[in-house]
Amino acid sequence: MKYIIGNWKMNMTAGDIVEFTRGVRKYKFPKNSNVTFGLGAPYVYLLGMAKLQGHVLVGAQNVSQYEKGAYTGEISAEMLADVGLDFCIVGHSERRTLFGETNKIVNAKIKQLQEYEVMPILCIGETLEEFEAGKTKDVLSEQLSIALKDVDKSSKIMIAYEPVWAIGTGKSASVKTIKETIAFIKQKLTEILGEREHIVLYGGSVNPGNSSEILHTDGVDGALIGGASCNVDTFMKIASTLF
Ligand code: PEP
Repeated sequence: MKYIIGNWKMNMTAGDIVEFTRGVRKYKFPKNSNVTFGLGAPYVYLLGMAKLQGHVLVGAQNVSQYEKGAYTGEISAEMLADVGLDFCIVGHSERRTLFGETNKIVNAKIKQLQEYEVMPILCIGETLEEFEAGKTKDVLSEQLSIALKDVDKSSKIMIAYEPVWAIGTGKSASVKTIKETIAFIKQKLTEILGEREHIVLYGGSVNPGNSSEILHTDGVDGALIGGASCNVDTFMKIASTLF
């Protein structure tokens, strides 16, 4: 199975989403194909997107680290579960750099999501400086060991390897880097979570031009797509490279 997951970030209006879902109908994919689609939408549109479930996974892009109470503006894992969401992105680099989300906070968020059975998609990745200094494995090890400390080892989780320098820059990581890094991540996941299925996506400037080689790279279970997921044609063209 390959996963094609969009992260709309703070983009899209209700009208854009209607247009997007209409646009999807133009694309005929083989029945029983091995592709699962997902869309990470802004909170306010999630209820309206419930009707898409069954065709695509629907998820949020963030969740509170707290369970409930006096946390104005926050949305809890219980609320995400209450509206039937399939997944929630945590630890995205934009949340880490712009909103101070630490590995410890990410760990608390994952535990909340597991408690309410919403699948976390945990984003990890190194900065350009760390990449150039050859520190990628150290950074990823630390992100994984803290974010996954004492989590439920058997519940479903996906990891997205997203080099920070590849996000929204138009410059994706090379196939060699992706292959080696995802193999390393899977080995680390086996150490932390044990022998089980480990699903690892790649994210960072995936587009219709590079998606075929990225999605066919050993160890890559799919893609987390930012910018290119806001346009139905580019999003579907990325997926169509799998057929
Ligand atoms: C992302 O934000 O998760 C992402 C991968 O963005 P982009 O595809 O735009 O690089």
